[in-house]
Amino acid sequence: MPGRSTARVADVVAVDAAQPDAWLRGDRPPTVELSPGVWAVPVPCEMFPVRFTYAYLVVDGSDAVVIDPGLDTPAGMDALRAGAADAGLDLGNLTRILVTHYHPDHLGMAARLRDLSGARVSVHASEGAFLADMIDRPPEVAAESEMRWLVAVDAGPDLVRALREQSHAVGALLRVQLCLPDDHLRDGDIVAVGSRRLVAVHTPGHTSGHLCFVDPEAKLLFTGDHILPTINPNVGLHRASDDGDPLGDYLVALERLRAFADHVVLPGHEYAFTGLGDRIDALRGHQTVRSEALTSVLRQRGPCSVSQAAAALTWSRSWEAMSVADRHLALATVFAHVRRLEARGLVAVVSTDPTRYGLVS
Ligand SMILES: [Zn+2]
Repeated sequence: MPGRSTARVADVVAVDAAQPDAWLRGDRPPTVELSPGVWAVPVPCEMFPVRFTYAYLVVDGSDAVVIDPGLDTPAGMDALRAGAADAGLDLGNLTRILVTHYHPDHLGMAARLRDLSGARVSVHASEGAFLADMIDRPPEVAAESEMRWLVAVDAGPDLVRALREQSHAVGALLRVQLCLPDDHLRDGDIVAVGSRRLVAVHTPGHTSGHLCFVDPEAKLLFTGDHILPTINPNVGLHRASDDGDPLGDYLVALERLRAFADHVVLPGHEYAFTGLGDRIDALRGHQTVRSEALTSVLRQRGPCSVSQAAAALTWSRSWEAMSVADRHLALATVFAHVRRLEARGLVAVVSTDPTRYGLVS
């Protein structure tokens, strides 16, 4: 874009200084055309620390796609409508709704936009299966699965009570923002938008069906919550019944994206940037540091449950001072690290009730 002022922030270079300026000030940035026909519309989600999610509008000829509609609130719809107007688009003319992952600040308005436009909603197949399961699941089954997780991480009675109260509120928010997709995308699937192509890239970790989208001709990479310019995306193990390794999946998916190191990154939050290779290094480095810290806790203290290890780790604020929501996320990330170390054969379960993990000597 001619006349655009860029800005170096942290390890990366912001594409348009208006975005980091507003983000760092605590404001919502203006709608910006980051590349011809590609608009970033910040949609508010004030109850989350990220404060807004970018809904990306990709317009070519009579085709108009939105990637991640944003949280479903009246203010969100107003913001998206206004941003679309800046792009010369009426939301009723959307032709496809692509969603990187099921979190309400991304998927949120998908069903509403589908009603408005008749456009199909597309997510990754595994995200679609997860959504169907969440929608079908009777509340008592959901509560039981949550309880199993709380026991697995050894959450303790106070935290269990607080988390359960909180999860009612979060669960209620999540449920109203859920939507069954119309079709499922798989890794490598191509979505045509006029004369341009968006290629789906499966990037599990933040969620199991997380998708990024690449526009290879324009060299754009839409990363959802998989890669953000300064925030370390949450990669947690959220279900006790899940025998997967989300952190392992995440690290593999990060490496795959090195193929797009010269692309502009259009993330779900903060600001668009260049410098993907450095950012991938930093994200890997962060996970390595956390993994080493966990290993040293287990070495010094001996076998620990997930919550004992979490309380012994260093966080940006003290464990006791952390909000219930933050502790919930923190426990899920420690659980994911424990699982990764288990998968590498470095850690094993040494006792049950509570489940405690120790280093394999
Ligand atoms: Zn997310």
